[in-house]
Amino acid sequence: MSGDSLHTMGQQHGRRSWAEPWKIKMVEPLKITTREQRLAALDEAGWNTFLIKSDDTYIDLLTDSGTSAMSDRQWAGMMLGDESYAGSRNFYHLEAAIQKFYGYKHIVPTHQGRGAEHLISQVMIKAGDHIPGNMYFTTTREHQEMAGGTFHDVIIDEAHDPQAILPFKGNMDLGKIKAIIDQFGADKIPYISLAGTVNMAGGQPVSMANVRAIRELCEPLGIKVMLDATRMVENALFIQEREEGYADKSIAQILLEFCSYTDGAWMSAKKDNLVNIGGWLAVNDWDTFEELRNLVVVFEGLHTYGGLAGRDMEAIAIGIEEAVQDDHVRSRVGQVRYLGELLTEWDIPIVQPIGGHAIFLDAKRFYPHLSQDVYPGQTLAAYLYLDSGIRSMERGIVSAGRDPKTGDHKRPKLELTRLTIPRRVYTQAHMDVVAESVKACFDAREEARGLEMVYEPKYLRFFQARFKPL
Ligand SMILES: *Cc1c(COP(=O)(O)O)cnc(C)c1O
Repeated sequence: MSGDSLHTMGQQHGRRSWAEPWKIKMVEPLKITTREQRLAALDEAGWNTFLIKSDDTYIDLLTDSGTSAMSDRQWAGMMLGDESYAGSRNFYHLEAAIQKFYGYKHIVPTHQGRGAEHLISQVMIKAGDHIPGNMYFTTTREHQEMAGGTFHDVIIDEAHDPQAILPFKGNMDLGKIKAIIDQFGADKIPYISLAGTVNMAGGQPVSMANVRAIRELCEPLGIKVMLDATRMVENALFIQEREEGYADKSIAQILLEFCSYTDGAWMSAKKDNLVNIGGWLAVNDWDTFEELRNLVVVFEGLHTYGGLAGRDMEAIAIGIEEAVQDDHVRSRVGQVRYLGELLTEWDIPIVQPIGGHAIFLDAKRFYPHLSQDVYPGQTLAAYLYLDSGIRSMERGIVSAGRDPKTGDHKRPKLELTRLTIPRRVYTQAHMDVVAESVKACFDAREEARGLEMVYEPKYLRFFQARFKPL
């Protein structure tokens, strides 16, 4: 399947444009800065885009986490917050929405995704356990390791190749899972950590056939399948577009079927669920639920609010229903594709195929003259900000951190700069401005010399590390 046919699928009606299925009711003015102002802001921020003030940012593509625009209905829901300590009606609405659209039985709210990852890791992982996953996610792996587990990447090899065009590049390699089972034994593997669209691989989806096969392999061995459902709605769109037998199924139907092959999920509601804060955990097994419900009280809050205000739970419940509407998902992923196709036309190296939530610039090919030791992905994020005030982030050697055993940098094959598109926030005109700024950096690529790290925090260093240009 060619890259072109992957990207244009679902648009078989000739020249009929899509447009956002919403209109703007309230606006938030943006600040436009000069190059001198941006250089000063970069110096102050240690050339780390995470440390730049949002007030100094023009188009903020740092993350799609908690940056969605809520709908008028969600804002109206905020006024229906029942802020009772126990048994808030908003909790029951949230529980019902998760049961209806994701299909799990028991629900625990948490303040955000990592709160859920913390609880599930503490409850399910024992010291010496092994957890296979499709690539990794920073906070997910951190919590699995802190609980005494060892993470193993079992994504298909092609996922590490930014130029390999495959419809489901987030799939797990069953051979790799079997090898880990043979090596350590099924009783040392509490669960498979499966993410729907793999963030670190460029937002690449997992097929229905893959999750079904994982289920068939694991169920007889007593290994659970746990889903990182953070961007599972976007994953469902790729299944609808690319997998045989799903073209006529709705996003909601596909989501429900996918989840039915898993035993539970953790969620960063700040992504797919269209809210600014929140998360949840859901499991089918009662005993696991009992332990989770007990532990949430220690770390997050009572099991009917889990660190969230009643109004926040209401906004998530409404957001879940809006998020599974086909028109919404098509325009959300369509906007990402629009940007990706412009860059592809201009021969700018990006991860292919274009994923669901972000465009990943391939910093290795963007700056072929820079070695990974001078942080090409971080360098590109800094120069893009300097050019236009667009904020992106590194997903490469800085994000990967150090090997806990050897203390050396982990050296991921992918060295990327991520342009993450918030949901329902920017227009197509903003995407044009972004593409043109990336092009300007690409034309000036030979001038980039890379960065030196001058301060390195111990955990998740990419958030707070400081750099100097070489
Ligand atoms: C954001 C994210 C998380 C963590 O969620 P937070 O709400 O940021 O704590 C976990 N997994 C994936 C895939 C994510 O993108």
